[in-house]
Amino acid sequence: MRIFNSLTMTKQEFVPIEPGKVSMYVCGPTVYNLIHIGNARPMIVFDTFRRYLEYKGYEVNYVSNFTDVDDKIIKAAVEEGVTAEEIAKRYIEECKKDMAAMNVKPATTHPLATEEIPGMIKMISELIESGHAYEKNGTVYFATRSYRDYGELSHKNLDDLRSGFRDLKVSGQDEKEDPLDFVLWKPKKEGEPFWKSPWSDGRPGWHIECSVMAKHYLGDTIDIHAGGEDLIFPHHENEIAQSTCANGVPFAHYWMHNAFLNIDNRKMSKSLGNFFTVRDISEKYDLQVLRLFMLSAHYRSPLNFSADLMDAARASLERIRTAAERLRDLGEREDGGAPLGESDRAVLEEAGAFSAKFEEKMDDDANTADALSVVFDLVRFANTNVADDAPAALARGVLDVMKTLCDVLGLIILKEKEDLDSEIEEMIAKRQEARKERNFALADQIRDELKSRGIELLDTREGVKWKRI
Ligand code: AMP
Ligand code: ZN
Repeated sequence: MRIFNSLTMTKQEFVPIEPGKVSMYVCGPTVYNLIHIGNARPMIVFDTFRRYLEYKGYEVNYVSNFTDVDDKIIKAAVEEGVTAEEIAKRYIEECKKDMAAMNVKPATTHPLATEEIPGMIKMISELIESGHAYEKNGTVYFATRSYRDYGELSHKNLDDLRSGFRDLKVSGQDEKEDPLDFVLWKPKKEGEPFWKSPWSDGRPGWHIECSVMAKHYLGDTIDIHAGGEDLIFPHHENEIAQSTCANGVPFAHYWMHNAFLNIDNRKMSKSLGNFFTVRDISEKYDLQVLRLFMLSAHYRSPLNFSADLMDAARASLERIRTAAERLRDLGEREDGGAPLGESDRAVLEEAGAFSAKFEEKMDDDANTADALSVVFDLVRFANTNVADDAPAALARGVLDVMKTLCDVLGLIILKEKEDLDSEIEEMIAKRQEARKERNFALADQIRDELKSRGIELLDTREGVKWKRI
């Protein structure tokens, strides 16, 4: 499997530190509001990548944080007249609901920055001791000049950056020894949440949080670090500097970055009025449609969000679901376990070959766009090669392949059936209730209604059973 590594700017063969295991850290959202559909992109694409690693047999330790102390959270708290903790807690819960609705698996660990402060104080102390950081008036800065390879990830010319910063000197920044130095710890302002430290009552900088959480849950060197491309500089550059200087070993072997999501070809922003939360979208679409839409582009390509493209994604999802439901119904028919003939076995084998094609696409830097095309090819193949009178076992076999591939993409293709099943169970329970009350007219009415929906009831000694006819 090859991954495009932002560090080397090339596709590289993926070799994990420990065979069969993958450690992966994905920068999570700052929780001051409902997540927007831009935030959903890294969640969906890296969840899909994780699912693919698991499909390939890797044991994945997937860590994604919540940034739960930050200027924006404090501002939202002041505006609402509640604590920053309350804001963070509320939006973490909401974010988890959105993730579940998008079928994004929970991370192995979702650390919270505020619960990792002792680790941050420790790492900052070590950086000061080893000469990589210095304190001025209660603020601790990382000394970027002390890390020889600073700039290696963003491939930036540091002298240009430095002079740019000098022109833009902000008040209070004069105490920095170098304009590229960044904050590891800052003193609190009036009314802000704070923690005690050797330097001041205050709070950590954003970058040190991720370095410490990655170290705590994954170790000094990790396989993959991921996030949106806006994080390359300065966030990830700074994480590398901190972690490498503190731990004395390389930080992450592979850096993966998703490109941005735009709306109608413009940057999404509140001021342009083209800002959508995942919750907004869920009112108009099944979030599986959003998921399919996100996966229809390569994660490193900019992706444009529009109603037309979402409608196209909805139609595509419908196409997969229709095929899957037909296969399921065919597979549930009672045909006495009719054996597969030679041509059936050939069809099954050909269907299985779609898995290899799918893997080929995913092995090439998680090309979900092409992997999805393989799923559509399989749908077409199933529609033409599994006839309405095909043996049930053939339908089940082809459906298995389809379900496995869609599951890697996190697409639920038979969810409606589950909903339908519980609806049927409920109607049967109602009919039983009616019979108990000797309301046979209602019981018969329910039976007829189920029959009109293709469900036949069988009253057996073990209770009521049902089947599709
Ligand atoms: P934030 O809450 O701003 O720290 O963002 C959380 C994650 O969402 C980061 O990985 C960002 O890079 C990513 N992100 C934010 N906006 C977008 C966007 N419009 N398109 C893609 N990713 C985004
Ligand atoms: Zn981070």
